Amino acid sequence: MTLFERLDELYAIGGGPGANRPHGSREEDEAHELAAGWMREAGLEVEVDGAGNLVGHAVARADVWVGSHLDSVPQGGRFDGALGVVAGIEAVARVGSGSVVAFRGEEVGCVGSRALCGGGDKLPSAFLELHVEQGPVLATACAPLGVVTGIVGYARGELVVEGRAGHAGTTPMDGRDDALVAAAGEILRIRDVAAGIDGAVATVGQLTVEPGGTNVIPGRVRYSVDARAPDEERLAELIAAIGFEPSSPTGPAPMSPELRSILREEIEGRVLPAVELPSGAGHDAGILASAGVPSAMLFVRSLNGGVSHSPDELSSEEDVALAVEVLTAALRRIAE
Ligand SMILES: [Zn+2]
Repeated sequence: MTLFERLDELYAIGGGPGANRPHGSREEDEAHELAAGWMREAGLEVEVDGAGNLVGHAVARADVWVGSHLDSVPQGGRFDGALGVVAGIEAVARVGSGSVVAFRGEEVGCVGSRALCGGGDKLPSAFLELHVEQGPVLATACAPLGVVTGIVGYARGELVVEGRAGHAGTTPMDGRDDALVAAAGEILRIRDVAAGIDGAVATVGQLTVEPGGTNVIPGRVRYSVDARAPDEERLAELIAAIGFEPSSPTGPAPMSPELRSILREEIEGRVLPAVELPSGAGHDAGILASAGVPSAMLFVRSLNGGVSHSPDELSSEEDVALAVEVLTAALRRIAE
């Protein structure tokens, strides 16, 4: 069975449109059972840990892990997570050493990898995650593969603007204290602040307007802030410039320099450009890296403008074949 046929089988679970394997669902279980069968077929010994993570071990160097996750967002794509697992099975089978992992619940906050890192189990000595880029950088650079420098840190919080509610018909424009107009100015300022810090992004995605009547001047607005930056300094700078108190910031997770150079050498050895880029999205590799496991990520070019978390998510068979080759070669070097 080819790797793309396996992706199709996972994609078909739960019916369409898109991948529908949310964490904790029967569909996520079904995907894990399917992958466990493929691992056994590849001659691997299969184990499930207390958090439900699935691990297939070869006989040698079971401490070196490759893999990703099998859960999906509702109506997700064919490649997100699933690619890293099916490619991992192939790499471990080809090399004859190492382990492949399918983590639980990545899309809902990396439930499985966090449980692994917080539990008493022995952690892997290295982790490689192959994943689709989910963005347009590699396609723009005409590069099939990329090496992730680190997972950006992020901070989320809420800001409140107070004004004065009033009658929309009888309050003259110059006598108003409209909280939503003030919030609009703040939201534009947040955009500009993030644009001024290299690699930083900030998003206001939710607004609550009170009292919320069509004929009432807004008296109070609450809005969410999601701020991300590639390293601690820039994240701190961004948080300070926006001026909010993050509820639980997640620090940036740098990838291992040694593993990054192995991936880079394997890419360059195939006469391909080795583009390095940060990951704006969270991944299991970030959780493992933060727990002290040397980790690295290999990105595969996303087509269709880099769209992800959508049935339009696409990577080519040629790019995926190259990625599997590089992952396999890197695993061979680390786990020999
Ligand atoms: Zn993913």
